[in-house]
Parts: sequence; structure tokens; C-alpha cells
Amino acid sequence: MPDYQNHSHKLSLIRDGKLSLRENISNYIYRIKEQSDLNAFNFVFEDSLQDADRIESKIKNSTAGKLAGMVIAIKDVIAMKDRPLTCSSKILKNFTSLYDATVIKKLIEEDALIIGKTNCDEFAMGSSNENSAFGPVLNPVDKSRVPGGSSGGSAVAVAADLCDASLGTDTGGSIRQPASFCGIYGLKPTYGRVSRYGLTAFASSFDSIGPFAKNIYDTALIFSVISGYDENDSTSVESDPVELDFSSGQKKKYRIGLPKEYFGAGLNEEIRKSIAEKVELIKKNGHEVVEIELPHTEYAIAAYYILTTAEASSNLARYDGARYGYRSKENKNLTDMYVNSRTEGFGDEVKRRIMLGTYVLSSGYYDAYYRKAQKVRRLIRDDFIKAFEEVDLILTPTTPSTAFKIGEKTKDPLEMYLGDIYTTSANLAGIPGINIPIGKERGGLPIGMQLMANHFEEEKLLQFSSHF
Ligand code: GLN
Repeated sequence: MPDYQNHSHKLSLIRDGKLSLRENISNYIYRIKEQSDLNAFNFVFEDSLQDADRIESKIKNSTAGKLAGMVIAIKDVIAMKDRPLTCSSKILKNFTSLYDATVIKKLIEEDALIIGKTNCDEFAMGSSNENSAFGPVLNPVDKSRVPGGSSGGSAVAVAADLCDASLGTDTGGSIRQPASFCGIYGLKPTYGRVSRYGLTAFASSFDSIGPFAKNIYDTALIFSVISGYDENDSTSVESDPVELDFSSGQKKKYRIGLPKEYFGAGLNEEIRKSIAEKVELIKKNGHEVVEIELPHTEYAIAAYYILTTAEASSNLARYDGARYGYRSKENKNLTDMYVNSRTEGFGDEVKRRIMLGTYVLSSGYYDAYYRKAQKVRRLIRDDFIKAFEEVDLILTPTTPSTAFKIGEKTKDPLEMYLGDIYTTSANLAGIPGINIPIGKERGGLPIGMQLMANHFEEEKLLQFSSHF
């Protein structure tokens, strides 16, 4: 199979009759089967082939949408009409969605083909894709290692060339971290810029949907399609349509901030070195690089895990065995049914979060934990606002280490949580962030670099990223 550099190249092959869309999607379905040990997909939609000819004739008549020719995989926490929606949880086994999420509607309107639903951590809670009722996803670069999480399947689907691009969700790093572990691009947009109508809620004041792709152009293209105000999502924000001009963006000179708190102890030396090399390159290209401070960084993980578990405990109260999916069989009474269905339906990590969240919200502890964490959240946000008065973009590692071994951190949840050190802040502040693959460590594992921008400055983020 040819190695496609970017979507426009593939589209031109399809337009010139050198590749049919039917072939494109068939190749992917074949590859998904061939590489089924990666376990990237919960469901593959082979019937999507039926749309190939229709879209192809639109391409030939020049009436096709912006994503025509593109084959996209969707994290199994996003609703698609008449398709299963499980969130990789036993509690939603056999649940089928009644409607399309806004992002799905927008992808289809632009003639993308949806190839299937990807595996993920249960309800998007995790950093390794090991918390899935469908089993773990393997990293295609080294199958003994995790792909990252929670959008592990979406990252692997792109990295292993099982589709052109995919959608994931990011509550505390679930797009950027797996993108980093798998060596691809992953964009977490500004909170509110992409509608979450049809996204299963984990922590509603943090959740965002964004693309994974093999290059910055496809990342930007998908982002431009899925972003925008949606009256069905009360947190979605009116913002200008995304217009990207990569040629003029390449000429602009930026001021880049390196927060010293992100380069302390605990950062893998090879990642540090790779980033330092990129920083040199950035300077050589005429941009300015300055050291900055984000003084409340050390409290980010604690605040994140208090606030997100609180929101999760509330959001996941709706899975009670009565309304959705799984219901326990032997129940003496109603309470029994709730307890048994939830006990049998949820996995360990989800239960841990519900318990933690219920605890931090409980009377007597609310002020000590929840309210305090809200205050810390504000301080973290203010750190960023202040930093962006001085710099255009902030550059950091995406993760403190490269992809770890399957099973390496499952016994110690705290250690797993600490791996989210560089990604949770962007969600606490609501700002956009992207992972850019910048190289490989000696053992061949991908290294990622994170860039963050101020609210609604994705254009700047994407334009600068096109340098790499
Ligand atoms: N790893 C983080 C967590 O477990 C982030 C998850 C996410 O972004 N969905 O909560």
C-alpha cells in the first residue's frame, strides 16, 4: 500500500482515479483484521463500504465535502445513530445510540466515512487503555507496551494505519498522551469550541473532543470541520470559523515560553534532550524562546483528580440498571437492582473514581477537598492567562516518560495518575494543547512535545506546529 503523506495527497489520488475510495476503505478493513491483535477497534463498520461509491462520484463531480475520501474512526464514547455505544464498559454492553453526536453529523456532512468505534479506557478513565471491558490495546511500535489512554484505540488506529484519522476525547490528556506514546498528532481544543452533544460525560467541565491524525494538515482540517457553536451543547461557545493559512503562518515569528516547572526531576532524559534539540531549531528559525513560570503546576494532578472524580460520581449516577444497558439478573428489590447492576457493570477504576468523587463531595469534606480544588483550578488558570500576556505559545514535554509496559502501573493507581502531570493543566485552564511527534528514543519508542495556546488560539497552535 502506498504511504500517504497527507489527506490532500490521497484525495488527489482518488480524484485522478489512481485509488478508489472503495479500495481505500477495503484496505483499511483488511488491515484492521490483519492487525486484530492490537485490539484497537470495539466495532468495525464494514457496511460503510456502501457509501464509498456515492462519495466517490461526488469527488469526481467536484461536489464532495471537505473530508471526502477520508476514513475516520471514532472513540466508543461518542454517539452514532444505530451503532453500539459502550464506552468500553460492561454496563453499556448491547446499548445502541438513538442519535448522532454533533461531531459525527459534521463529519458525515463533509463526506467522511466512519469505519468503526475504537477501544478506550472505560468511560475514558485511564492513561493506558488497560481499563477496558474489551481488553487492553497494544502499542503498534512495541506490542508489550501500552498505547496510552484513555483514547488508546483511536491513537493506535491512526498510528498502525488502520484509518486516515480518528476522534478521541481529552479530559486530562487522553488525546495528547496516547498521541505522544504512538508518535502521531493529537489536538485537544479549547473547552467549548467543539460541541459535546452526543459525548458520554465523564467530567463535564473538562471533557473535550478532538482529532488524531498523521500530519498537522489533517489535524487542522478535521478540527475546522468539527468546531463551532452548537445550540445542543450549552457549554459550546460562539467563535469565529477556523481559517488556517499555513503559508503565512510559516513566516510569522513567535515568542515561545518554556515553563521551568515542566522540566524538573522525573522527566526522562531522552525526552529532555529531544525537546532541547527542537528548542534550538525553533531559535534558529528566528523565534524567541524564554523561560516562564507556572507556579501552581505542582497542584494540578491533585486538583484534577478531586474535581474530575466529583463530576464523574455525579455523571455516572445515571447508570442504574433501569435505563441503560446492563441489568443484574437476581434482584430482591429496587435498591438491590441498582447495587448489583453497578457492582457487576462497572470496572475497578470506574468504581474507584465514583467512590473518590462521592467522598470529596460528601458533607464535611466538601470544603476541604472540592471547594479547595476549585480555588486551585482558578489559580492554575490565572497562571496561564498571565503567561500568555508574555508569550504566544507554551512548549513542554507531553509526558514524563515514553510508553510503559502493559501491567507496569496497574497495581499502583497513584503512579498511573502522576503520569498525567503535563497534560491535566490545560484541561483545568480550558486552553488548547497539541501533541507533536518529534522523534524516537534509543529503543524506538516515540517522543512527543506539547504546545499550548491561550483560549481560542488553535490557529496559532496549528500554524506554528506546521514548522515541525
Ligand atoms: N488519564 C486521565 C484520567 O485518567 C485523563 C483521562 C482523559 O483525558 N479522559 O483521568
